[in-house]
Amino acid sequence: MPKITPAPRAASHLFYQSRLRRPLVDRAEGIYLWDQAGNRYIDGSSGAMVVNIGHGNRHVIETMKKQLDKVTFAYRLHFENEPAEDLARRISTYMPAGMDKVFFVSGGSEAVESCLKFARQYALAIGQSRRWKVISRFPSYHGGTLGALAVTGYAALTDPFRPMMKEMPSIPAPTAYLDRDNFSMEERGLRYADKLEEAILAEGPEEVLAFIMEPIGGASTGALVAPDSYYSRVREICDRYGVLLIHDEVMSGVGRTGKFLGGDHWNCRPDLIALSKGFGSGYSPLGAMVAPSRMVQPVLDHGGFQHGYTYAGNPLACAAGGAVLDEIERHDLVGNAAAMGELLKAELVALAARYPFIGDVRGKGLLLAAEFVSDKSTMRPLPKEKNAFQRVVDIAYDKGLIIYSRRTRGGVEGDHFLVCPPMIITRDEI
Ligand code: PLP
Repeated sequence: MPKITPAPRAASHLFYQSRLRRPLVDRAEGIYLWDQAGNRYIDGSSGAMVVNIGHGNRHVIETMKKQLDKVTFAYRLHFENEPAEDLARRISTYMPAGMDKVFFVSGGSEAVESCLKFARQYALAIGQSRRWKVISRFPSYHGGTLGALAVTGYAALTDPFRPMMKEMPSIPAPTAYLDRDNFSMEERGLRYADKLEEAILAEGPEEVLAFIMEPIGGASTGALVAPDSYYSRVREICDRYGVLLIHDEVMSGVGRTGKFLGGDHWNCRPDLIALSKGFGSGYSPLGAMVAPSRMVQPVLDHGGFQHGYTYAGNPLACAAGGAVLDEIERHDLVGNAAAMGELLKAELVALAARYPFIGDVRGKGLLLAAEFVSDKSTMRPLPKEKNAFQRVVDIAYDKGLIIYSRRTRGGVEGDHFLVCPPMIITRDEI
């Protein structure tokens, strides 16, 4: 691949998280993006694991145009709308049995925030007012708003805001691949799950409201997959203490891992599910909390859900979501994510066998990550001072390949990048 030379940039009034400047994007199609100087980039991370159905999808664009001509916004207290009704009905068919109610939002943080607040209101509705603590995992990422951040395990993001958030308990994420003990992977899975029980007992079971986890980790852990034994043990422990299980499927949901939900790999039965990212696939901000009627009814009977966002469930976003789902179904993109994910993972595993600095390759479907190390036997990270990892990411970018990198496993040192191209990717493109 030739080295890309972006066009020079004038001063900007925009600002984002860092001083990093990137070229101005011009257009996008399929798995590719072009900047204004005409350079082409492979969208190897679907943006931030968002553009699941690829860029420039004509069906979604035409559907949205039609909806724009009809009505784009009607406030839900004044009108309900057909795209929202249709999408809620269709999405519930992909959820575990009984998860039949959909609460729309406009993004992942809003979806998580909704789960937290709904869980609390459900506890109040069933007379369990002492329950409020939400146990989460470290590392993890659940969003940038203060509620979602309070259950996020990522020190650099949470520390500045500690005084502004309720202190919440956390347990270690199941980084079983790093453990150097004599236990089998399955035993390690059970031992990590048992840390949840320890935390519930330490906090006082009558005060613990919920446990939140990403079934397959995202950026904070680099597509962390727990041993199989972990998932059913977590459910058992939640059931034992009446603790709600929240699955944050914002990144792992809507087909990315080769099943519709990440939790489907283990037939998980969470109580609440957060969706976003691939749900709107970058065509519109869209997210949802999915809940069972058995939990929604008591909340509605006790004064209703005291929560909502202005843009939630608007006709344009829901029309986009419906059209995205059409494309996923029509082209079996979930099946393609499974098949292409297997191929891509095999390629990454082959690279790891060739190069001593790739210590681990993990993930499922097209939610994959590779971890860079300076020593495979100890999994010691690359030397920080040489900035080697960032150089790899920059070299890839300069050659027109976008990968999503993280310099940390959420406060624990570690360099990984996510390889998550759009689910439309073909064998040749991989
Ligand atoms: N939950 C998970 C697992 C995520 O990966 C993200 C975003 O990366 C969020 C929640 C927050 O989503 P958003 O950035 O759309 O608010």
